Amino acid sequence: MFSEISFIKEITETASAMYARGWNEYNGGNISLLLDASEIPEEYAPQYSFELPAAFPGLAGRYAAVTRSGSCFRLIKDAPERDIGIIHISEDGRHVEQLAGFSGGGKPTSELIMHLGAHERRLRLGKQRAVLHCHPANIIAMTMLAGTDSRDFTRRLWGMMTECAVLFPDGVGLIDWSLSSSTELGLKSAGYFNDFRAVVWAMHGITCVGASADEAFGLIEAIEKAASIYLKVLSAGGTAFGISPAQIRKIISSFGLETKPDWTNDI
Ligand code: 13P
Ligand code: ZN
Repeated sequence: MFSEISFIKEITETASAMYARGWNEYNGGNISLLLDASEIPEEYAPQYSFELPAAFPGLAGRYAAVTRSGSCFRLIKDAPERDIGIIHISEDGRHVEQLAGFSGGGKPTSELIMHLGAHERRLRLGKQRAVLHCHPANIIAMTMLAGTDSRDFTRRLWGMMTECAVLFPDGVGLIDWSLSSSTELGLKSAGYFNDFRAVVWAMHGITCVGASADEAFGLIEAIEKAASIYLKVLSAGGTAFGISPAQIRKIISSFGLETKPDWTNDI
């Protein structure tokens, strides 16, 4: 049964947890999981196909489970077959076939280009099969207070909580406001996933990748917590950098982590 497939459960449980955190109002957010052919039930056959506005040769022949455009994370658990679809990317990387799900005639998330781009980039860097996108309030608020520079934004987050530099030593990419659901923003974001596992869209939200939905969820959770501390500190009249660059360097080196050149230099 569709709802009993383990990767479908991974999506429904994650969507419910994200909704419970307040990260996914109404139809906000989307999830995709990259799948191996061995995970696809044999009876699934192509139902329809469409051409993508860009090619993803690195995903040729791969499968994915994706949430439906317009799906409400609060309700996905009640109707996974309606709100999740299983797709196959053609051998030329330019076409998508739908194999199962979307029982009400729905289509994949409007952020499909960003999801495919993120998977393609991260696949080259190791197995990271989950991409989660959502709209956490503190992260969004912080984008209106902390500039437009990825390094500066990350430094503020690292400074809020000792764990942050440990959890995301590769930092957070920040993209200034752009039209969402657009091919342009999807492809631009894909480029950022070469360097980051977390990409924030100013005044919109965040997308994180992970080996599992839980791992990507944890990354969002940590960044959202740091952003909430940032806002508390500013609201209380404090300064915004917190942990000093020398202390950040100490954290990075004591955990044996790698970060970007210059990102731990003095401000
Ligand atoms: P979809 O409902 O098309 O997935 O879009 C939600 C969203 O968050 C767009 O950025
Ligand atoms: Zn969104």
